[in-house]
Amino acid sequence: MDSLFDSAQNGESREERLAELSRQVSVCTKCDLAMSRTNTVFGTGDPHSPLMLIGEGPGENEDATGLPFVGRAGKLLDDILKAVDLTRNDVYITNVVKCRAAVEEGGRMKNRPPKTGEIKACNPYLQGQKEAIKPEIILCLGGPAAKTVIDKDFRITKDRGKWYDVDGVKAMATFNRAYVLRQSGDDLQQTKRLVWKDVQAVYAEYQKAMEGRG
Ligand code: SF4
Repeated sequence: MDSLFDSAQNGESREERLAELSRQVSVCTKCDLAMSRTNTVFGTGDPHSPLMLIGEGPGENEDATGLPFVGRAGKLLDDILKAVDLTRNDVYITNVVKCRAAVEEGGRMKNRPPKTGEIKACNPYLQGQKEAIKPEIILCLGGPAAKTVIDKDFRITKDRGKWYDVDGVKAMATFNRAYVLRQSGDDLQQTKRLVWKDVQAVYAEYQKAMEGRG
């Protein structure tokens, strides 16, 4: 995995470094998720954006297409971004693990959270993406992403919506789609309000970062 970091010093562009990382991911067999995946899901968006969004891992639709945040998860993400006048092309989107974690239940494969060992095995790719993109702001979508990126003891219900310094990068976490969709009635409305509040705070920092770039 040293090659990830060597390449950072060889004068390659961000796009070239990400393309090389993506190539490495596409043939990766470092954890058991390689055996059940259809496609690896690397990441997408603007590698020069100040804002990086990090989710938990690919689901069924992402595994089928090789693209992050498609299907219902994608719709929620698009709605969130649209609410603050952003599109996928304005940010860089990826996941903590690049292959789908799933378990067989009732004759079909259902998504499951990635295990600690799988997250650890995949982490050098996420680190490589962060080193290539050099985001100024990171928004983690859900507890597993926050535990990986911000703090291993992160508690999403208590710690979301706050800013953390992660190696000089401003990082925040909000609820992911699965959490939001598990809520109902007043809890659903309240959870949506909290996500909205978090995204507004992230957008304010995004605007500051863009103004800083002139
Ligand atoms: S999840 Fe990551 S470490 Fe595991 S096989 Fe896929 S790319 Fe490799």
